[in-house]
Amino acid sequence: MIDKHIDLLKALPFALDNLQTNVYIKDRKLRYVYANKHTLTLFGCTAEELNLSDDSKFFPSDLVPILRNVDLKVLSGESSEEEIIVDDGKSGKKVYLEVKTPIHSDNDNDLIIGILGISTDITAQKSLIESEIKLDFERLQLQTIITTTPDLVWLKDENGVFLNCNKRFESLYGASLKDICGKTDYDFVDKELADFFRFHDKAAMQSSHALVNEEQLTFTDGHTEQIETTKRAVLDQDGKIIGVLGIGRNVTEHRQDEDKLRKSEERYALAMQGSRDGLWDWNVLTGEIVYSSRWKSMLGYEENEIGNDLAEGERRLHPDDKSRVLSNTAELMARKTRKYNIEFRMLHKNGHYINILSRAFAVEDETGKVIRVVGTHVDITELKKSEENLKLAASVFTHAGECIVITDANGIIIDINDAFTTITGYSREEAIGQNPRFLHSGRQSSEFYADMWKALLKESYWYGELWNRRKNGEIYAEMKTISAVRDERGITTHYVSLGNDITPIKEHQAQLEHIAHYDVLTNLPNRVLLADRLSQAMLQCSRHVKSLSVVFLDLDGFKAVNDTYGHDVGDELLIALSLRMKEALREGDTLSRIGGDEFVAVLVDLDAVEDCEPVLERLLLATSEPVTIGDIVLNVSASIGVTLYPQDNVVADQLMRHADQAMYVAKQSGKNCYHLFDTAQNDAVKMQEASLAAIRRALDNQEFVLHYQPNVNMRTGEVRGVEALIRWQHPERGLLNPIEFLPVIEKNPMSIEMGEWVIDSALSQISQWQTIGLNQPVSISVNISAIQLQHPNFTQRLAKLLAGHPDVQAHHLELEVLETSTLNDVVYVSKIMDACMALGVKFALDDFGTGYSSLTHLRQLPVKLIKIDRSFVRDILDNADDLALVEGVIALAKLFKRDVIAEGVESIEHATTLLQLGCDYIQGYGIAKPMKASDIPTWVNDWKPDVNWQPVKVWKQD
Ligand code: C2E
Ligand code: CA
Ligand code: CA
Repeated sequence: MIDKHIDLLKALPFALDNLQTNVYIKDRKLRYVYANKHTLTLFGCTAEELNLSDDSKFFPSDLVPILRNVDLKVLSGESSEEEIIVDDGKSGKKVYLEVKTPIHSDNDNDLIIGILGISTDITAQKSLIESEIKLDFERLQLQTIITTTPDLVWLKDENGVFLNCNKRFESLYGASLKDICGKTDYDFVDKELADFFRFHDKAAMQSSHALVNEEQLTFTDGHTEQIETTKRAVLDQDGKIIGVLGIGRNVTEHRQDEDKLRKSEERYALAMQGSRDGLWDWNVLTGEIVYSSRWKSMLGYEENEIGNDLAEGERRLHPDDKSRVLSNTAELMARKTRKYNIEFRMLHKNGHYINILSRAFAVEDETGKVIRVVGTHVDITELKKSEENLKLAASVFTHAGECIVITDANGIIIDINDAFTTITGYSREEAIGQNPRFLHSGRQSSEFYADMWKALLKESYWYGELWNRRKNGEIYAEMKTISAVRDERGITTHYVSLGNDITPIKEHQAQLEHIAHYDVLTNLPNRVLLADRLSQAMLQCSRHVKSLSVVFLDLDGFKAVNDTYGHDVGDELLIALSLRMKEALREGDTLSRIGGDEFVAVLVDLDAVEDCEPVLERLLLATSEPVTIGDIVLNVSASIGVTLYPQDNVVADQLMRHADQAMYVAKQSGKNCYHLFDTAQNDAVKMQEASLAAIRRALDNQEFVLHYQPNVNMRTGEVRGVEALIRWQHPERGLLNPIEFLPVIEKNPMSIEMGEWVIDSALSQISQWQTIGLNQPVSISVNISAIQLQHPNFTQRLAKLLAGHPDVQAHHLELEVLETSTLNDVVYVSKIMDACMALGVKFALDDFGTGYSSLTHLRQLPVKLIKIDRSFVRDILDNADDLALVEGVIALAKLFKRDVIAEGVESIEHATTLLQLGCDYIQGYGIAKPMKASDIPTWVNDWKPDVNWQPVKVWKQD
């Protein structure tokens, strides 16, 4: 069957033999069964020689397996088109295009019975084809680019008909290339836009260069893009315009960026000018720096007063901050950080430093190099100040000695300080959230608190004393100030209270009041309280038409006990006797101790003198019975003087004196008895008159002299001054102390005359000491009697005396006023003092502590100096009560800002103790006894402070 087909093919020899192409047929065994003439020529054989031979007979051996593989593929049903290169070694390389197709059986199409091969020599065309392929490739590349580019690409002919476009363009028009080609813009966009495109296309075609335009185009999916189009005319070989090529680029983002940049630059420029912050911009590459005007005005300069120069900034840095700023900048430049945030000080034009907060950041180029540093300056001087103030306030709050409580507007505690805890014992945790009421002691009434709140609401302020209770139950006194804190609208937001624990002062006060009224040893009322009780009793007497008696009692033989057994035993005896005497009295009677062994009893509610006799007997008995102390049995007795009021119708003082005189008579009459003062035969009156006459003479004869006792400042080692103390150089009795004559003239106008003589002599003495060059001490203290001070003319008289000594400065004169002598009228006395102080003289309050309203005096009298009475100073070394009292007086003096001096300092130990208690000034035998004026210069020169009082500055006389 195969043969039959091949026979058929043999019938076409003519046609095939004229072809310039090789045509051949192979059977399934790949043997040639036919080849046309052109093939036979190529192979160089006859038809018979070819028949049933295979490729190995005609082709080089390396080519045979390749040809065979192709043939086998064709036998499996595929056609093949291969180029084969044949090198026969003679005619050089030839290239054939071999097209092979399977030959199917006529009756069974699935059966392949052979291969039809057609092979053309394409050697000549080959080089041409290769160049074409290359061209194609470039075209392809171009096509790829055009297809994949994000740009729009399109081509139109001269009539605006689309010839080609890329994918992106398809998406713009929402149509495929096939649908776009052959159409115009009018088919896709509205006429107006199409007209515009057409106009633009024409312009591009007429132009010799590319035409650029920008349009906003809306894509079919609805989004719009800013497109920049470039259009160029397309020419043929002859230069004739045949169309227009368009390329469109999306510039939306680019425009936005540009816009952003422009806007930010504008903003930047605005910021540079308008910002509250100073700005600077340093171009690292050029070294140029720009400071904003605010940057300059912050430092006090006008716009063009400072150049744009890096050094301008650097020069103004505080020397202590410079290295820190520079190292921060260096880190920025070294790209260790991108920005910094530092504080430093810069010199203001006015010469002070301001605090700057500087923030800077580095701008880098693509390579990471820092090209620019931009920064801001903020003036934080005020902030810093208030920060410091806050810090200060916080530390004041924490460290204040006062207890501080802060509450909210409802009075709930929101904060307390450490002192609060120290004073109350309550911790922060315990206090916060409470109402300060939790400290209430219950000592104050609800009206008290109501008044307090009234004041707080009205004045925003309350000041006063409060009694509160500590955590341990103790009650304490607090000096409190409460202030309302208001906001700018005037609404109270907080209350702040400051408190001082004044319990110790209160205690001192109470102690002082007690000591001022009671004898420390026996706890009996003292002279002061007695005077008070006596006048009260006298009033009662007149009211009830009764009598009272003043009983003056002086122990007999007490001095002997003291001398034999010592003070301690003497004290014990006094205590024991005072208890017994008290028992001897009736209820309502007063017993007081007014001096060493002197007691005064006031017996009230008497109808007749006989009524007091049993009491007097009991008193005599009480004192004369033996007292056993340890194993010592003591025997003393008492001499008693009595006077009766209103039978003896005199003032209280006088009553006392009369009782005293009567006591004296009792003593004279053999002791251990009482004597009633006899108003009728008042010997004392006669005695008094004789004494007054004698003093009158002494004044006229100039028998009085002044002695001077120095007082010193232990701390500085300086002599403070001297006190003038009067003496009577009596022609017969010798030198008499004031106690011998002053009481006689106490109520007599002569005391004023004597007082003026003392002042005048003291002023002369000052002037004399000045003349001899003794400039220390030129201050003299002069004692002024109550009657003299309260005399209506006192101020004028004093002025006159001062005027008589023009070389003496008034402040060198100090007037000592007995605390007790101011009793009558403190307001009046303080007025006199003010008037005298206007003249320049100073005041001291003498014998301080013996008056019964020491606190009142201290507060109301304008005295510079307080003299602690010698009776308190004497026993400070071994009597804790006296020590506490003196300490209290010193504290009070400091509280009222008065100087304080201790009198009667008899030893260095006393002095040292006083110095330790805070009392710098002293006077007493321990320093010097009163001396003649002529001895003062030598004493002043020689005096040295004790080594125990170091550190001291020794006073020197120039
Ligand atoms: P005074 O003003 O308290 O004067 C201090 C008295 O204490 C002085 O007594 C003085 O000698 C004495 N004294 C000083 N240091 C010590 C010491 O360490 N221990 C002791 N036990 N006593 C010391 P004097 O001179 O007898 O004066 C007694 C009082 O007479 C004075 O007390 C004063 O109140 C009054 N007086 C003295 N001179 C005058 C005067 O010129 N005019 C007036 N009005 N009164 C005078
Ligand atoms: Ca004095
Ligand atoms: Ca005194």
